[in-house]
Amino acid sequence: MNKKSIYGLTFNQLMEWLIEHGQKKSRASRVWEWLYRKRVTDFSSMIDVNQECLKLLADNFVIQTLNQHVKQESEDGTIKFLFKLQDGNLIETVMMRHKYGISVCVTTQVGCNIGCSFCASGLLAKTRDLSSGEIVEQIMNVQLHLDKMGQGDMVSHVVVMGIGEPFDNFDNLLDFLTVIMEHKGLAIAGRRITVSTSGLAHKIYEFTDTQIPVNLAISLHAPNDELRTRIMKINRVIPIEKLMESLRYYLAKTNRRLTIEYILLKDVNDHKEHAEQLAELLNDIKDRLYVNVIPYNPVDEHSQYQRSEMESVLSFYDTLKKKGVNCKIRQEHGTDIDAACGQLRSKQMKKSEV
Ligand code: SAH
Ligand code: SF4
Repeated sequence: MNKKSIYGLTFNQLMEWLIEHGQKKSRASRVWEWLYRKRVTDFSSMIDVNQECLKLLADNFVIQTLNQHVKQESEDGTIKFLFKLQDGNLIETVMMRHKYGISVCVTTQVGCNIGCSFCASGLLAKTRDLSSGEIVEQIMNVQLHLDKMGQGDMVSHVVVMGIGEPFDNFDNLLDFLTVIMEHKGLAIAGRRITVSTSGLAHKIYEFTDTQIPVNLAISLHAPNDELRTRIMKINRVIPIEKLMESLRYYLAKTNRRLTIEYILLKDVNDHKEHAEQLAELLNDIKDRLYVNVIPYNPVDEHSQYQRSEMESVLSFYDTLKKKGVNCKIRQEHGTDIDAACGQLRSKQMKKSEV
């Protein structure tokens, strides 16, 4: 059996584990500092932790399990990492540079079972969930890359928008968030973390109840059931009204704002009437959200979809604004290196199949 990455343990879990194994509670803080502040990658470098404790840790855990398979750098500074997991599966992680800091987009599953008709990740059914350690490790690998560059850069923002449906890997997602937010370690603020979901309403209730203070983004992509079911089959099981109810619950129980993601697909969901319908749908909660209008990144296998013309994008934006709905057009990063969700991975897999 492969040993698990120690990154998968939350601070409390590490402390409990050490106590259960006869170690002093205080060692947890020291080990944590070595992992997330000094960022060593082997236990033997933790020089002020006692030898017996280090042996125990090394006998039961490893620090790193991911192997870098491919790294692509874009002209705009975006870097896409493709990692090989211990079982040989490939996952991808994207690092983006912005004016406000450095963000990382993480993967939560190998493949995705939601199977949205426009998405490269959904082409491959889910093989398995990533462990919390494998998700944290993606952030750590990017941070280690930045450390090597020597400019003191830190990962400041995290988006859970890579391959997979995070709410279909709920417990590991929560542990991952707890680890990266831990103030003794990476201390990434909740307001700088966004989790995106295709709209698993029952999990939105559960997520709200955890009171974890991170941002939530919803992949809506259509303003009515007929159209949404056509492009996202999950809508057959969880129609828009059920989703809206869960969002109203989220807004009532938290003081946070929501992001509504809306990919513009040419002549499918990008007409003025769609924007009007969307404004209508969101009308009663519009003060607590903004719509992120996302230019579609064409996927070879989904040739039925094309990117909207700039004119339609602007008209969609204007219509929402006129109806009083906050709206932003998502800036694209790394389009020259297939940085959209699942694309590099699906290309690499095709290459290795040849
Ligand atoms: N499964 C989650 C999170 C991962 S997808 C979700 O669906 O929300 C992250 C975002 O990328 C989603 O809004 C998704 O709809 C969008 N996306 C998927 N394929 C895309 C493509 N080809 N071009 C642009 N955005 C895409
Ligand atoms: Fe899965 Fe999200 Fe892609 Fe849909 S858009 S297939 S939920 S990763």
